[in-house]
Amino acid sequence: MIVTKTKRGTNLEDVQEMNRSLIIRLMRRRSVCSRAELTQASGLNQSTITNIINELISWGIVVETGVIDGKKGRRSIGIKLNGEPYKIIGIRLARNTITVALFDLEGTEYRKQQIPIHKMDGSANAFNRMKEMIGDMIEFNSIGQVVAIGVVTPGPLLRDEGRIGLMTYFPGWEKINIQEELMNEFALPVYIEHDAKAGALAHWWFGSSHQDHGVMIYVAAGQGVGAGIVIDGKVFRGSLGMAGEIGHMSIDYNGPLCECGNRGCLELYCSTSALLQTLKKEYPSLESVWKEINEDRSSETKEAVRQAAWFLGFGLVSIINTFNPDRIILGDELAEAGDLVHDTVKSVINEYVLPEISRKLTIDLAYEDKDTMLLGSAIVAIESILDLPSSYLNLQNEK
Ligand SMILES: [Zn+2]
Repeated sequence: MIVTKTKRGTNLEDVQEMNRSLIIRLMRRRSVCSRAELTQASGLNQSTITNIINELISWGIVVETGVIDGKKGRRSIGIKLNGEPYKIIGIRLARNTITVALFDLEGTEYRKQQIPIHKMDGSANAFNRMKEMIGDMIEFNSIGQVVAIGVVTPGPLLRDEGRIGLMTYFPGWEKINIQEELMNEFALPVYIEHDAKAGALAHWWFGSSHQDHGVMIYVAAGQGVGAGIVIDGKVFRGSLGMAGEIGHMSIDYNGPLCECGNRGCLELYCSTSALLQTLKKEYPSLESVWKEINEDRSSETKEAVRQAAWFLGFGLVSIINTFNPDRIILGDELAEAGDLVHDTVKSVINEYVLPEISRKLTIDLAYEDKDTMLLGSAIVAIESILDLPSSYLNLQNEK
């Protein structure tokens, strides 16, 4: 799909598209609502709402739910979004796993499949496995149609080029144009995003407060370290889409050399890859580390995790001073350690950030029950679909 970025005017068709987009987004935040409620919330007039809703019903994206009681005892017909006919394949590429899942337009997950990958087998093999999983997932889908693919990858990601700039601990991916190859293979639009940015977006989408304004930073401290910065609901990407690569922010100019060429990069101190390297002899996996900590068997292991969390907090101090966020969410593997990491990060930040700033700052752990970066891979695609609903969602009409 070609969207002309240089266009500056707004045609009548664009206005219609913007209104459809607005209505779907308003409905996404409500379960069942009425046309009157949407008229009020959007500021559009009644006949515009009627036309748009009729169109969305014909696309199968909105359904009527029967009579509901409105304000002042007025009864009306309830309507709600129906994401089921429009499916998205969400993919999370990590350094040791590939996860592929089937979602609908509302972000509901239908099926998930995960495989382990290893750098010894090479990135080309891993990429072939990914394609097979996507093919299987498309075949599995029985209701509606897959309309887009979303992929999230560790960074640094060259988003406009559709490929990873460098994947530390797993070389070779930088040679593969993931976006272009998947588009050619499956003839579907493919959206690619840095995993931490997608995780940030997922938290904003499903966040309990449903806030519209503010600065939220999602920190993905896993096999690498990255951050997603969301400002007033939009992901901050920077010039090349590489903003938030805090893993390669140096905390020691004299420190060890990193694969990126810099010295003392944050992820050398607080990624789970680095943590496992420190604990290498004793632990085959991260699960065994968490188990040991929970059972309180080794004070040395606990100290190593606390140390990693301390470095993460220390790195975040610079990020907080740069962006003055209202909310920080600690996610990915290191956050699985729970309170030990949460409390340590909070105490470092309280110690090194001005009290005026830290008083206004909330630091939370990410949802435990969801892989927010995987969910984010679908949301990145959904957001693009919702920007141009008529291009993706009127499939029924074309048949
Ligand atoms: Zn680095």
